[in-house]
Amino acid sequence: MSASARDKDDAGTTPEAARRERTLRAAVRQGLLDPESALLAAFVDLDGVDSTVASLRSAFPDSLRVLHAFAAKANCLVPVLEALRLNGMGCEVASAGELAQALAAGFDPARIVFDSPAKTRAELVRALSLGVAVNADGFQELARIDDILATRASGSRIGVRINPQVGGGSISAMSTATATSKFGVPLADEGNRRRLLQAYRDRPWLTWVHTHVGSQGCPLDLIAGGVAKAVEFAEEVNAHLGRRQVTGIDIGGGLPVNFDSDETTPGFDAYVDRLREHAPALFSGAYEIVTEFGRSVLAKNGFMAAYVEYTKTVGGRPVAITHAGAQVATRTVFAPGAWPLRIEAHDPDGSAKGGPPVVQDIAGPCCFAGDLLARERALPLLDAGDLVVVPDTGAYYFSTPFHYNSLPEPAVHGVRIDAGGRVTFRPLRPARTVDPDAQFLTDR
Ligand SMILES: *Cc1c(COP(=O)(O)O)cnc(C)c1O
Repeated sequence: MSASARDKDDAGTTPEAARRERTLRAAVRQGLLDPESALLAAFVDLDGVDSTVASLRSAFPDSLRVLHAFAAKANCLVPVLEALRLNGMGCEVASAGELAQALAAGFDPARIVFDSPAKTRAELVRALSLGVAVNADGFQELARIDDILATRASGSRIGVRINPQVGGGSISAMSTATATSKFGVPLADEGNRRRLLQAYRDRPWLTWVHTHVGSQGCPLDLIAGGVAKAVEFAEEVNAHLGRRQVTGIDIGGGLPVNFDSDETTPGFDAYVDRLREHAPALFSGAYEIVTEFGRSVLAKNGFMAAYVEYTKTVGGRPVAITHAGAQVATRTVFAPGAWPLRIEAHDPDGSAKGGPPVVQDIAGPCCFAGDLLARERALPLLDAGDLVVVPDTGAYYFSTPFHYNSLPEPAVHGVRIDAGGRVTFRPLRPARTVDPDAQFLTDR
């Protein structure tokens, strides 16, 4: 079913767009957006997060032991991580900073998974002391873990990340299972299978297999095919050793998100169907499972809104200069072909703007010409003082800003809407602001 066929009212508005509009109007009324003092703000729909996590949990059979570990890099705000913990998730971290954020969000260390291709000795000591799960990215890291375990006991469950080398998707920067990816142990490279089998034989504490095939742009069959290689490898280790040493498989994340409508497709159900087909042994009940979804949990539950400061016509084309650019939409600005975003036009009071579509550019505030959120986009003609909404930005956008031009980080607000339509906000991150006297950036 296409979004255009689905659940739209007479004006062609989806329930999700109506929810954004309601949120925006309330935000303007409450001063969370203000043309003088709050030029840009971001919103996380906490009700939406609850229902997305519920759909993830229900996609896997209850009979399996599954830990859904949210990939913190997708949205590392501590209150967001806390909301995910309260929904029963674990947390996947890839740096000391993300580990600190996960602990601050209250995660039990046993429900945190530490993946990174560059873990330092000190980071490994800390993770192993806390009992955080660790996936070694290669043989050198395994040797380092040997050294650490020689002097201290650890309750961590430990695995190895394998690269199933199944190939890439449409965005090479997001494809981690290519023949030459920097991540994990490439399974098909000369001698690696034998070395890995020996590594498991020598280390009875090595009980997990990890893989993460890629993120946005990878087709489901590619991801599921990579997971199947990891499951086959786990079966091979156990057969080779004649004991069930590998007890768990971490299948990574990477479910792609559609950025072109309010539909959520593919859903977790569709992915689990592909997994059942490619990797039936994953569902045998013989293995514990960890997942590491990030984008698919948060992207569609967040949006940004920014004021249009000026408009002009250049070379015959209307351009709206807004306060959202590369500082909050870094990937879209630098790789617009790979990361297109929708833009919605709103009046200054937050209501959806009407009017015939006019092709225009939507630019950001940064001082370089490529700072464009969208090129040649047909929208009601924007005026100075209007608002633009940028949907689907809950993951990897405003949560990890880029400090170009020393632009301050916008506030992030959590949103809930009750059955009566009443919108309530709670702060998830304060805005940074420039103190005119002290001349530094500070939390407001
Ligand atoms: C980035 C990453 C994820 C999450 O990817 P999404 O596309 O956000 O689901 C999971 N696992 C690892 C190891 C990652 O690097």
